[in-house]
Amino acid sequence: MLDRLGTGLKDAVKKLAGKTVIDRAAVEELVKDLQRVLLQADVNVKLVMNLSKAIKKRSLEEEPPKGMSVREHVLRIVYQELVNLMGDEVTVTLGPQIILMAGLQGSGKTTTTGKLARYFQRKGLRVGVICADVFRPGAYDQLKNLCNKVNVPCYGEPGVTDAVKIVENGIRELKNTEVLIIDTQGRHALEDDLISEIIDLNNLTKATHRWLVIDAALGQQAKEQAARFHEAISIDGVIITKMDGTAKGGGALSAVAETGSGIVFTGSGETIEDLERFDPDSFISRLLGMGDLKSLIEKAEEVMADEEFDVNAMMKGKFTLRDMYKQLESLKKMGPLKQVMSMLPMGGAKIPEDVFDTTSVKMERYKIIMDSMTNDELENPSVISGSRVHRISLGAGATPEEVRELLKYYKTMQRAIKGFRGAGGKFNMQRMMKKFGG
Ligand code: GDP
Repeated sequence: MLDRLGTGLKDAVKKLAGKTVIDRAAVEELVKDLQRVLLQADVNVKLVMNLSKAIKKRSLEEEPPKGMSVREHVLRIVYQELVNLMGDEVTVTLGPQIILMAGLQGSGKTTTTGKLARYFQRKGLRVGVICADVFRPGAYDQLKNLCNKVNVPCYGEPGVTDAVKIVENGIRELKNTEVLIIDTQGRHALEDDLISEIIDLNNLTKATHRWLVIDAALGQQAKEQAARFHEAISIDGVIITKMDGTAKGGGALSAVAETGSGIVFTGSGETIEDLERFDPDSFISRLLGMGDLKSLIEKAEEVMADEEFDVNAMMKGKFTLRDMYKQLESLKKMGPLKQVMSMLPMGGAKIPEDVFDTTSVKMERYKIIMDSMTNDELENPSVISGSRVHRISLGAGATPEEVRELLKYYKTMQRAIKGFRGAGGKFNMQRMMKKFGG
């Protein structure tokens, strides 16, 4: 799913980036491209129309924020509206809770129940699972097998047809667990007694969460299924399975819209480990190939609020050792270098791996070494010759090799920064966007 959708979205945005003027025609063309890509991915027509309308209206009516070009403004709107399309961000609490699994047979409910058990177990919680799928004969054995693999207790009563009784007994049996996950029956189609049973189970368990499992390949039926389950037990999260198996996947978004919730997890394989948390922002950033733009902007803003970090220093022409010193200080607040770099929207720009290998301990050493340099050396690192290296190393209690290593690191940084600096001498979004897809 992701490859094709990602390529389509990237192409649409790239086309916008290549335009000389961003006028009404350019916005209309962009919207049309987006519509085509999303409809091909099976996203519901109404959702696509709403998204198009919002992008068009906002792009043409909203004033770009100060300092932002029209092009950047439109890109930002596209990004925000695509994030909206994914539904809300759903928080998963790591405490005591009961999760009721809903969905039709074959959606991947049982497999996902096992995956979730593994997820919460990895987070250090005591997990228990109840099999209340009294419809599918093999359901209990399948779930038991999955749970055995990871030593999670699984309660079931094969052959018994009263799901409510099983769950009552199961809750008693598994009272020492913190996270209780209940797999329910699915059936082939929505039937009244299926719905009334899940309502009974929800009333009995007073479930903390009611998650709907939807197969990514489902297409437009996702909407109807979601509506029925939502009406019955008020679904508060959707899990999309089999993301690995379809070129489309957009149909599942109708389920999200129908329940007014969001995607909690996605499944992308048959093993118990193939479950990923879903975050709309990073998902869209990745699809657009932009890096995690939002987190970067937020973090940069936080750091800049301290007025120590001049983000422009990094993007402007001159990059001295003093700038690097300031950056090392700021990076301490922004997190590991690799994380920060991966959030930068650099498109195809390549940062050498060894830049990332620099640990925070080393950074501290670098700062001590720089403290032994003169102002002139910090501003013009090229004056640092052999004898100066020796003097600096003595002053800092370091070896000359360490000083040379620092200088090498500085040069790599400088090159990397030049790599994504715009031709006009400042950070250039358009140039960055042209690099999409490398
Ligand atoms: P249930 O009837 O809803 O409980 O569905 P199951 O959990 O038995 O899953 C139905 C089939 O889909 C099984 O063959 C699973 O191995 C497979 N399956 C479930 N989730 C995924 C997934 O994320 N990726 C792939 N490729 N297969 C999956």
